[in-house]
Amino acid sequence: MIKIVDAADFSTQRDVETGTEAQRATVLKILKAVKTEGDAAVIRFTEQFDRIKLDTMKVTEEEFVQAVRQIRPEVREAVREAATNIRDYHSRQMRQSWLTTKESGTMLGQLIRPLARVGLYVPGGTAAYPSSVLMNAIPAQVAGVEEIAMVTPPGKDGKINPGVLVTAYELGVKEVYKVGGAQAIAALTYGTETIKPVDKIVGPGNIYVALAKREVFGLVDIDMVAGPSEIVVLADETANPAYVAADLLSQAEHDTMASAVLVTACPQLAEAVRQEVERQLAELPRREIAEASIRDYGAICVVESLEQGLEVVNRLAPEHLELMVKDPMAYIGKVRNAGAIFLGAYSSEPVGDYFAGPNHVLPTNGTARFSSPLNVDDFLKKSSIIAYSREDLLANGRKIVALARQEGLEAHARAIQMRLDNEGE
Ligand code: NAD
Repeated sequence: MIKIVDAADFSTQRDVETGTEAQRATVLKILKAVKTEGDAAVIRFTEQFDRIKLDTMKVTEEEFVQAVRQIRPEVREAVREAATNIRDYHSRQMRQSWLTTKESGTMLGQLIRPLARVGLYVPGGTAAYPSSVLMNAIPAQVAGVEEIAMVTPPGKDGKINPGVLVTAYELGVKEVYKVGGAQAIAALTYGTETIKPVDKIVGPGNIYVALAKREVFGLVDIDMVAGPSEIVVLADETANPAYVAADLLSQAEHDTMASAVLVTACPQLAEAVRQEVERQLAELPRREIAEASIRDYGAICVVESLEQGLEVVNRLAPEHLELMVKDPMAYIGKVRNAGAIFLGAYSSEPVGDYFAGPNHVLPTNGTARFSSPLNVDDFLKKSSIIAYSREDLLANGRKIVALARQEGLEAHARAIQMRLDNEGE
């Protein structure tokens, strides 16, 4: 069922969902209501969309404790260990402020500061992922963000997914609100009686969340608006077809619009993977989703050589790239565009999704051409530092005056000229 395609005109580009007119109107209405009415509007929309009337939005200590009781100890242990790996990896991304001194006495530099307060959206429903909490919260913590407020929609019983809650607890994220959708984005942006406004909102969500984030961008910063997941496996005759098929399906089960692609110069491998995909698909609990994804967005692309395969990879700029080839290290320098690169038979994509350390929030839909995985820098901002010396001002003042006058900005010119007149020898 997975189709064989021609390298030349193959593309995995999908239309980015922009929502219907009605959805956009709903989001604007929700944003406006929360901005003017605060908590009352948040509670009203939660009742309308999540079917639960909340007395309090904030998760209590008792609720954390209950969640901990519901989670198997080995899952909690795995969460802890994953958190350690992710923290270690991201710690290497941290950068320091810097200052250089010139002989003239001038000092120039950059002051690096974390954002003060960040909002983390964690989707509800079937997509309640503890790993999303790890991947979004840890880089913020490593950056030094002091306040992280998490929002996630409550179920009809008023509860939050225990896995999500325990993960937040393990990370020390204690400020959690049972609010989802556009009303959560609005509360984080404008602030309400209960929820203080944030500087940046990160985390995935459905179309209402995505539209609301786009709308508030500028008032707050946002991360990327992620599209459906995708994987490209570049494999040669040494690859195990069952592994290749399993990894393709690990993406396909995410979403009917997810895309899973094998690129190979080996026709025998192509055929073996095709059969393996069929065989493994039949046994998957999320078969319907994976099947639709494989049918509509899955492909096997048979190329003439690995070199040509790499051209296809670079053109597709996949979110995840697996190099299942004899000597994967030899090819890494030829990869120009990919969100995350997995090398060799043991670097199956879920290793990166959950545990190894790198972030799983990655650029999708070809945007790896110009953007990077979520990282510590996303939670830092920089201020330039200029400490100009008297010597430099006297030496260069006239040039600055000339540039200011060229722009017709006489007050700029005079601010400098005044100092030259006063200080000049
Ligand atoms: P969600 O938390 O994104 O959205 C639930 C909220 O949507 C509700 O609380 C409600 O406020 C709002 N809503 C629902 N129907 C509405 C309506 N008719 N009008 C206004 N608001 C409405 O949870 P979800 O819906 O289960 O969706 C999860 C989403 O997260 C999926 O789209 C999934 O693809 C995405 N996701 C993406 C990634 C990624 O990395 N790209 C990871 C996890 C989840």
